[in-house]
Amino acid sequence: MSFQSLGLSEALLKAISKKGYTTPSPIQQKAIPPILEGKDVLASAQTGTGKTAGFTLPLLQVLSDNPKEKYRPIRALILTPTRELAAQVYANVREYSEFLNLRSAVIFGGVNQKPQVSTIRKGVDILVATPGRLLDLQNQGLLSLKRVEIFVLDEADRMLDMGFLRDIERVIKSMPEKRQNLMFSATFSKDIKKLAHGILNHPIQVEATPENTTVDAINQKVYRVAKGLKTNLIIKLISDGNWKQVLVFTRTKHGANKLCEKMGKAGIKAAAIHGNKSQGARTKALAGFKSGSISVLVATDIAARGLDIPLLPHVINFELPNISEDYVHRIGRTGRAGASGEALSLVSADETTFLRDIEKLIEMKLPVEIVEGFEPDPNASTVPIKQGQGRQNRSPRNSKNNSRNSSRSSDRNNKSRRPKRNNDRRG
Ligand code: AMP
Repeated sequence: MSFQSLGLSEALLKAISKKGYTTPSPIQQKAIPPILEGKDVLASAQTGTGKTAGFTLPLLQVLSDNPKEKYRPIRALILTPTRELAAQVYANVREYSEFLNLRSAVIFGGVNQKPQVSTIRKGVDILVATPGRLLDLQNQGLLSLKRVEIFVLDEADRMLDMGFLRDIERVIKSMPEKRQNLMFSATFSKDIKKLAHGILNHPIQVEATPENTTVDAINQKVYRVAKGLKTNLIIKLISDGNWKQVLVFTRTKHGANKLCEKMGKAGIKAAAIHGNKSQGARTKALAGFKSGSISVLVATDIAARGLDIPLLPHVINFELPNISEDYVHRIGRTGRAGASGEALSLVSADETTFLRDIEKLIEMKLPVEIVEGFEPDPNASTVPIKQGQGRQNRSPRNSKNNSRNSSRSSDRNNKSRRPKRNNDRRG
């Protein structure tokens, strides 16, 4: 199938070929036609499937096919859970709309609101936003969603995990009832289905990969190891393999920092990316990782969500996530766009239950290896690490409100404490 046959305009086809895409990905093939027809769509797709183009391309076409008055009210709103994802989606919107007469902007917390406000004032057709900053500006009367025609909720599952449900509801109330809705989610819990039911109107359902299954191209392996030997083992694996682009997941921000420090001492160029890092530091780390000046990016789940790093060869779980679905998200960072990848997990005795849960979810047993000198501790307890312990931003249940408050208030604190500066510290 070609992009032409999907019914996209010349201007979009030109932008697509400039990006170097030749064939639409499965999610694009399935999502683009109903969106062009003005239908609501519920799509099951995670990062790496080409979902962003899947909603952005038809959205741009629908808007440009029906030009509106010159002063440009916000006609499309794309809501994303994280700042990084907002920035990436915006970059895509910009690229795909290069040959169209449409203007776009992105707004998120952690940075000065002034430039964002002045861009919106000039009139934008498409706004990409995270919920906190969007509501902030709306409450200050600095933007209106009363003319929104298309609403996109990206990574809806992560939105709920981060406690944004109330915010989403508030945003929805401020838009006209008659609009087109597109909702993307990697997983489909009961809560997501409920949310979809509330937002979408007779949606067409499309799916990129079967729910909760891991990509075949990913070579997965578990290293059983004593907890205290994990740092040395990961350093050995990365050094021996001479790996140049490795994404490492830790459970906590503190753990990410500590691991980075140790890697640095061992001569590995590593940077941490998590919620306590300033926006500037995170952008810099990501740019360094993409350009190759940093070989290892150590991230927490939330920070890593939505990072657009194509063709990642190695993902390592320094610790297993206690939410099995996160494992699927994490390893989905490798083996993208048809390239093969490797996902390794360092598992200590207290993570045995997590491993079992993950294997149940992905319906396969992961091959286990033990490296000489890094054996697991036969006397270590297999009692799991307490749920939520050390998890920042969220735990599986209960703390949704807390996490929301903490992430939102950090934006606010920044603003109230240091109004003039380019707020580059977070939380
Ligand atoms: P996404 O799932 O939207 O984060 O996209 C994942 C990556 O795939 C991004 O780097 C996109 O630029 C790229 N991509 C999107 N659509 C295509 C396509 N049809 N062909 C090749 N690459 C694509």
